[in-house]
Amino acid sequence: MKYNTFVTHLECSLSGNRYEKDFVHGLSNEGKPLLVRYDLEKIKDVISKDYLTKTEKHGFWRYSFLLPVEDTNIISLGEVVTPLISLENIAKKLNYTGDLLVKDEGLLPTSSFKARGLGVAVSMARQFGIRHLAIPTNGNAGAAMAAYAAKVGIKCTVFCPEDTPEINIREISRLGAEVFKVNGLINDCGKIVLEGKEEVGWFDISTLKEPYRIEGKKTMGLELAEQLNWELPDVIFYPTGGGTGLIGIWKAFSELQQLGWIGKKLPRMVAVQAEGCAPIVKAWRQGNETAELWENANTIAAGIRVPIAVGDFLIIRAVNESKGFAISVTDNEIIKARDLISKTEGTLLCPEGAATLAAFKKSLSEGLISNNDRVILFNCASGLKYSLPDTKNILNKDQPVDYSIF
Ligand SMILES: *Cc1c(COP(=O)(O)O)cnc(C)c1O
Repeated sequence: MKYNTFVTHLECSLSGNRYEKDFVHGLSNEGKPLLVRYDLEKIKDVISKDYLTKTEKHGFWRYSFLLPVEDTNIISLGEVVTPLISLENIAKKLNYTGDLLVKDEGLLPTSSFKARGLGVAVSMARQFGIRHLAIPTNGNAGAAMAAYAAKVGIKCTVFCPEDTPEINIREISRLGAEVFKVNGLINDCGKIVLEGKEEVGWFDISTLKEPYRIEGKKTMGLELAEQLNWELPDVIFYPTGGGTGLIGIWKAFSELQQLGWIGKKLPRMVAVQAEGCAPIVKAWRQGNETAELWENANTIAAGIRVPIAVGDFLIIRAVNESKGFAISVTDNEIIKARDLISKTEGTLLCPEGAATLAAFKKSLSEGLISNNDRVILFNCASGLKYSLPDTKNILNKDQPVDYSIF
């Protein structure tokens, strides 16, 4: 089936004011994220769940009826539906009687879930004829943007903190983008992008400062619902940086409800942050609606080292609406969780993904979740994109091997 999109308009996430769909937008006039709205009644009439078994589109593009991209502008790099992996060995170890599953996003193009948001946002840039994109990134977003843009010849400029995992920086560069290491954090990089807008003429594709990355990230919620046969889980643990994914998943569930594809039951949304950078957790605990800048942000989980988020109020709102909570874990707990899962389940998580396992363990021991919940953790990138401990074992083939050591 071929169609244009079902987008009706865009809406300011704070004021609800309406914006026309066929124009290039950044933030709303109030300086807040814009959300895309669809004609859900129309979708209900022409698309059924059945469509998903028939479509020839790949991965998250299977949901293009709930996306703003016209078919002819879709950029595809071989997206897949990411697997849900049961962590049964860990559950047993913890005497957990519920279901513990991880959605492994490391199998997407450029090995992270940033492919979802940037696949859609770069395709929209193509739709609007934008020729130059700029982004602040902790690594994965820059790589995803560079990849999708390379496919259609859009110029990319990338700014990342100088201590961003080296593999990401090299990956971005190989994908044809110009990448700069900045002696600061992601918000410092964001400032450079913002301030260069007029002089250079690039489009600022910072997360939630344009309306479409969240639409791509939303597909995590759509895909999860489909994989669970339209029965949502009890709890979702989400590693929260800019929070685009958490907000997007929550938006997806609302759209699915309006389509009548899922029932009333919604999961509790849990925002997971690192203790060295936990602005959302702090704000949520204090009962605030927005978060303050986190000073001296520091954690090995690069993707969630985000000291300030433009969508802070939307993250906190989703957490509260869902009766969820926000929780932080230490880097030490993150590393321990990563080692536990790799050695007992054979799945190597990224530190951000491991943070969700650490948060799960903590929540369980603090009684924040019940022992028979169905829980979903998000592993947002391949563990191979991060530096891993070296091995000390060396064997000299020219000397007799001491087989007693094995
Ligand atoms: C970007 C990123 C996050 C945070 O995602 P948001 O939706 O922006 O909060 C978490 N983990 C990894 C690996 C990331 O690249």
